[in-house]
Amino acid sequence: MKRDEKIFDLIRQEKERQMHGIELIASENFVSEQVLEAMGSVMTNKYAEGYPGKRYYGGCQIVDQSEQIAIDRACQLFNATFANVQPHSGAQANMAVMQALLEPGDTFMGLDLSHGGHLSHGSPVNASGMLYKPVAYHVAKETGRVDYDEMEKIALECHPKLIIAGASAYSRDWDYKRMREIADKVGAVLMADVSHPAGLIAKGLLNDPLEYCHIITTTTHKTLRGPRGGMILIRHDFEDPRGRKTPKGETKMMSALINSAVFPGIQGGPLEHVIASKAVAFGEALSDEYMEYIQQVRKNAAFMARAFMDKGYDVISGGTDNHSMLIDLRGKFPEITGKMVENTLVLADITVNKNMVPFDTRSPFLTSGLRVGTPAITTRGLKQDKMAVIVELIDDVISDINPETKTASEAKINAVRAEVNKMMKDYPLFAW
Ligand SMILES: *Cc1c(COP(=O)(O)O)cnc(C)c1O
Repeated sequence: MKRDEKIFDLIRQEKERQMHGIELIASENFVSEQVLEAMGSVMTNKYAEGYPGKRYYGGCQIVDQSEQIAIDRACQLFNATFANVQPHSGAQANMAVMQALLEPGDTFMGLDLSHGGHLSHGSPVNASGMLYKPVAYHVAKETGRVDYDEMEKIALECHPKLIIAGASAYSRDWDYKRMREIADKVGAVLMADVSHPAGLIAKGLLNDPLEYCHIITTTTHKTLRGPRGGMILIRHDFEDPRGRKTPKGETKMMSALINSAVFPGIQGGPLEHVIASKAVAFGEALSDEYMEYIQQVRKNAAFMARAFMDKGYDVISGGTDNHSMLIDLRGKFPEITGKMVENTLVLADITVNKNMVPFDTRSPFLTSGLRVGTPAITTRGLKQDKMAVIVELIDDVISDINPETKTASEAKINAVRAEVNKMMKDYPLFAW
């Protein structure tokens, strides 16, 4: 077969783009060479519907072992007793939990999308919002932090079957203890979707969700620095709140219901190459080097938030506990939208994403905010001394944006891009 030069040239271009730029998208990271190698391996050829030891296909004796290692390492990372590592993505992991737990039309609660929540926590355009009845809680306007009093009030009114902690754009830790008290009051199951801060949680830098949450879901490709995918974990297994029975007449356990919900509920064959790669990434995350990495991620984020505030930007909630922050542009630049900033910074090889801020006055297509995070640049090796330099470059570009043309001058963009490229030359992609 002739080599597909067209696609491999695009892959080469994408690698160049990643190498030259400053990557500040909070949900992205750079995986190691061995994580890539496992993902690009012959394990992609194998069908393995089912779970280790209980497959619907022959020849699974090898992938059984790698999937079991992924499960064991995932449990070790989060001090869990059950893990399902098959969800193809974070959204799939959430969908599986809902399928295991809820009946169509059941009420559940999640953080409002425009206050930092995720699409899969009840957006009307997502299956979670079409099949079930989502009710949103919010952050408080004054503090930018989750309003647990409001959450309790709403829970007592709407009696959700499930309450979801976790967000895509929220820089503060969660009060899982308080949330469990609320969940217990109304008989709800408490789930935390830790897709973003999973790596910080695994290394004990943030509150331990499994101390209070019945279930956690996460992606594996954000701070955890693995291949693109999802998983579901439980520490203390529990009986089905809906009381469904096994053929023997015993109440089904949630772990079994979740396994059935992932396969055959919402997925077919697992991606065994990706699962092998998850195992590799979990092994890396168990190491002391990863501990150093994730501590640096948080340190860099704290320095970056401080640098933005020193330049007069409004960082929501006044700082960060984790790897990310949300910046409200309206204070310093009332005329400039998140979209203008995202589009202009990309021309200077700096990638961020526009984001709604709580109580935003603009649409999700324009937005008044920016979400930035440090997982990717920290993998490249950048330390806290570079954070103010990066903020300076960003501020330089934003200050030059003309709301009429929606972008900055070519001279400014070129000058900043040259600085960015020069800086990133010193930080190779696979340095570690
Ligand atoms: C990223 C994210 C997801 C979804 O992950 P995908 O792999 O893109 O489906 C789910 N929940 C939260 C909170 C996230 O941040």
